[in-house]
Amino acid sequence: MQFDIPFHLENYIGGNFIGPLSGNFIENINPATGKAYTNIPNSNEKDINVAVAAAKRIFPEWSNSGPQQKFKVLNRIADIIEENLDDLALAETNDNGKPLWLSKKVDIKRAADNFRFFATGIMHFASESHNTPQTINFTKRFPIGVVGCISPWNLPLYLFTWKIAPALAAGNCVIAKPSEVTPVTAFLLGRIAKEAGLPDGVLNIVHGDGANCGEAIVKHKEIKAISFTGSTRAGKHIASVAAPMFKKLSLELGGKNPNIIFADCDWEKMMKTTLQSSFSNQGQICLCGSRIIIEDSVYEKFKTEFVEKATALTVGDPLDEKSKLGAVVSKNHFDKILSCIETAKQEGGKILCGGSAIKLDGRCEEGYFIQPTIIEGLGPNCKTNMEEIFGPVVTLQKFSDVENAIALANECNYGLSATIWTSDISKALRVADETEAGIIWVNTWLNRDLRTPFGGIKNSGVGREGGWEALKFFTEQKNICIDY
Ligand code: NAD
Repeated sequence: MQFDIPFHLENYIGGNFIGPLSGNFIENINPATGKAYTNIPNSNEKDINVAVAAAKRIFPEWSNSGPQQKFKVLNRIADIIEENLDDLALAETNDNGKPLWLSKKVDIKRAADNFRFFATGIMHFASESHNTPQTINFTKRFPIGVVGCISPWNLPLYLFTWKIAPALAAGNCVIAKPSEVTPVTAFLLGRIAKEAGLPDGVLNIVHGDGANCGEAIVKHKEIKAISFTGSTRAGKHIASVAAPMFKKLSLELGGKNPNIIFADCDWEKMMKTTLQSSFSNQGQICLCGSRIIIEDSVYEKFKTEFVEKATALTVGDPLDEKSKLGAVVSKNHFDKILSCIETAKQEGGKILCGGSAIKLDGRCEEGYFIQPTIIEGLGPNCKTNMEEIFGPVVTLQKFSDVENAIALANECNYGLSATIWTSDISKALRVADETEAGIIWVNTWLNRDLRTPFGGIKNSGVGREGGWEALKFFTEQKNICIDY
């Protein structure tokens, strides 16, 4: 595999690497250094038209190829990702600011797993049949055609492949757009697809911003389904454009997840995991537990220990193995997080640790680094506890009993995930049932089985990804009833 990254990245359309038809590019910055290091195409509807035409041309061939053929090529993509894990991880870290060890351990490994999982999945995807003594019903599933996949910057290749792999496995041709903030591993995926022998035009990767490129995908009348992961704001807008066109829509949106800690939990495991669920990836995971809700009898003990451990986390150069946190993704996002911390102060929040930017020396002196920040003293209804910050910032609240814990957890308009810490399984199940979220973890966090449905309720989105859910989303069904 070729890992030189050209200064001007190109779109991957119809099996060719080509620049944007407009000639316009966007600067791409390494957030750890604050320096521009590539330019990416700012594509628009003209580039999307070319991509859709290429996808339509190859669709009959790809959709009619058997599951074995799809398995072989998707599995080969997984192999190539694994064979080049170190180079891909470095590219991801330079683009996103996350620690290199995290890119290796989680992001790139999971991108390979996504392809392997759906390559295998399509070999087992079966039709349903419902019979009576006189009739047989069978439900066939067909690929939709050309579909759009739009993804965010926080887990760039991981989330990009989480959509593309099932869409391809189900027999669709794909127009995919990565975030304009983290385009490089998506660009490299084009080369990987080519080397793996995926037929030209089956996967088209088009770069650009949301307003020009993303919007053109959502509006294109020949793109019949949109799988989107990103902010609730953009998701709401996309729904308003796609719904009147009766497109299939999957929306995986923001989160403001509660982490509920009962006094009877396994303390050591809870503390170790809560540090991760608060600050992994600089708090930029939609599943991070940003509202920590603690039983009042252990509140002070938790606070003292958690603040001490969070303060000891090393924020540093993402290339340094010792860094637990790297840079946040962009200057815009850095400014947004710092302004959320200011809002928390104005709302009466007390900053227990962190609360400001960090200036590093050497190659990272212009980078976007923020200290792990813990805030207490705010009620459930303030902006800080209602709106997603998506950075290394968490709040602490106390609860008195189970009812109070559930009420605090449900106060927020988001409903993606929740984590519950207790050794009482009956209590855990009650809280799990009554907490408004699509994903619940008990005594664990980010424990993902790719077969399980993934997604949220309330402002966290519509629909589920993962396992059969994803293959069902990317197919249309037709029931055939025969009276014999
Ligand atoms: P974003 O909404 O700004 O952008 C996401 C993607 O959508 C980008 O590729 C962007 O270019 C594109 N886009 C923006 N406006 C568009 C439009 N009008 N039409 C079409 N495409 C458009 O989100 P972000 O800042 O990149 O990512 C962070 C957000 O993603 C957070 O809110 C986070 O919670 C969410 N997220 C959710 C999940 C989940 O599974 N629920 C996973 C990861 C991230």
